[in-house]
Parts: sequence; C-alpha cells; structure tokens
Amino acid sequence: MSKVLIIEDEQTIVDLITFNLKRDGFEIDAAYDGVSGLEKALSGWADLILLDVMLPGMNGFDLLKKLRQESDVPVIMVTAREEERDKVLGLETGADDYMTKPFSVKELTARIRANTRRKSGEIRPGGSRMTFGPYTVDTGLQEVRRNDAPVELTQREYDLVCYFLTSAGRVVSREELMEKVWGYEYYGDLRAVDVAMRRLREKLEDDPANPQFFITKRGAGYYLQK
Ligand code: CA
Repeated sequence: MSKVLIIEDEQTIVDLITFNLKRDGFEIDAAYDGVSGLEKALSGWADLILLDVMLPGMNGFDLLKKLRQESDVPVIMVTAREEERDKVLGLETGADDYMTKPFSVKELTARIRANTRRKSGEIRPGGSRMTFGPYTVDTGLQEVRRNDAPVELTQREYDLVCYFLTSAGRVVSREELMEKVWGYEYYGDLRAVDVAMRRLREKLEDDPANPQFFITKRGAGYYLQK
C-alpha cells in the first residue's frame, strides 16, 4: 500500500483527495501549512508527496528545495496557477511531476500510481551488471558507480539510465520515455523529460554541454552512446 502525504491549505481539496485516494487503497496524511508539511515530509513516512505551491508559512518551492537536500521522495507539485514559469521552476527545483488545478481525481490517481510504481523497480535491464563509459550499473543494488564510487541519482534518473541501456543505442523519443519511464498511459508534459535529461547529464557527463553518452537526436529524442 502506498502512503501519500498531502500538503495543502484548502480543507475541501484535502478532503476530496483523501476520500478518493483512501477508496483506492492509499494511506493518507495531511499538513495544512509549509512548516508542518516540511516536518512531515522529512519524517520519511510518505511514499509520495502532493505539494501545493501557495501555502501559509513556507511556499511549495521553498519547501521542496529544503526537502530535496535530504530526500528523493517522489513529489507532485500542485498549483492553481497555470503559469509556464511555475511549471519549469517546480521541475527544476526537483519535483517529479506537476499538476494544475482543477484536475480530475482519475488523472491524479494515475499520476500517483506512475510516480510510486517506480519504487518497486519495474524497469530492469537484462543482466545484473551493465556498463557504459566509466560507469557500471548494478541492478541488484540499483546503483550506478563510476570507478567503484557510487553516483547519487534519483530513482527516476536511475530508471532513465536503465531504460537507455535496454534500448541499446536506439533513439528513444520523449513520448516513449514519458510512457515507459514516467509510466503514463497518456502524455504528460514532455518538458519534464528534457529537464530530467539535463539533470542526468549534469551528474554523469564530464561536459554536460557536450555530452559523450546521453546524446540528443534533434527532432527525434535521445540515445545512449556506449
Ligand atoms: Ca494553497
């Protein structure tokens, strides 16, 4: 069973989400302001956090920034504002996904499932150890190492690496990545893929502006050059 922490100051929204998610078998906890929300988020109880942007005490962006210093728990940001810069800021701050109010409960549930499912490691390369460049991927430990030193990756970044390894040099479209790695049956915001790829390059490429491994095929997607 998945545990979802809702950080949201509007009681009616909390009640609505709680009612529907409980019916679908989720365990729910809620916080109504940024400060207690951060405290609960840091406790490690939740498998996923729904985070409102406009909160009393501390806004969602600041909360996420603090949370990300200590935790890679999946976070879906929720906002009433449909502003592109909010979306980008949220993703760059480390949100895994983004939703704009009003949203359907069905869509919310689909996204929560997609963002918690990856914890169970559905994406597995064939062998137990695979390599590219100076990197070794240990699928047992779910770890990427460079010359035996583990590289700090989020679960999504690890899943991306594994997906490219299983795709063996093939160009993978952003839509395919969204579907297979993010797990959506429909297409979410494809910009999330670009942001994730940029962060991945920052961690794994010596020169992220001139990547050696994760290469952009213009107009087509990305591929891994081993
Ligand atoms: Ca709010």
